[in-house]
Amino acid sequence: MMDVEFPILGSEPLPVEFANTLYGIGEQTDYLQSAAWIDEWFTQVMGAARHPEMGRHADEVRTLRDTVHALLSAATQDRTPEPDLVQRLNAYAAAAPTYLSLTWPPGGPAAQLQDTAAGPAAVLGRIAACCIELLTGPGSGDLRRCQGPGCSMFFVKAQPRRRWCHPSCGHRDRQSRYYRRHLSRGATR
Ligand SMILES: [Zn+2]
Repeated sequence: MMDVEFPILGSEPLPVEFANTLYGIGEQTDYLQSAAWIDEWFTQVMGAARHPEMGRHADEVRTLRDTVHALLSAATQDRTPEPDLVQRLNAYAAAAPTYLSLTWPPGGPAAQLQDTAAGPAAVLGRIAACCIELLTGPGSGDLRRCQGPGCSMFFVKAQPRRRWCHPSCGHRDRQSRYYRRHLSRGATR
């Protein structure tokens, strides 16, 4: 175990958790800053069996993370992102396409998703594909950025009134509003 507390909400789609590894506004902390942290993050989020040495591909991991982060930022700000970002995400998705295959046991036909890649390319490709689904799927309008002071976490708004990534951010937000009100009242006296 490592002595680092990752910004993992545990409630969000994989691309959202992935983007949240770039944490903070202004001065950012990169929670995928080293190979060891990358391995640990993938272990915590995906389980030990599903992160085949991601840390050895740190540059690719971080490039995809930066891309996903920038695309989610654009989506939450209703901006059209740079075409380069879209192209880069598509390259990751194309490096590990999946296809449907038919199985037909006695009970009836069934579809199975097959991977065409293995290892890190497959993991990153899956994140890229999930990101495309997230940005274009039925829940795409529910992507939000936390309104807590200094917090930058993305989340998918499941309840209509959710404004923070975590209740503790809501608490800090209410507190800072209180102090702001208090201070501004004091200043006008
Ligand atoms: Zn927050």
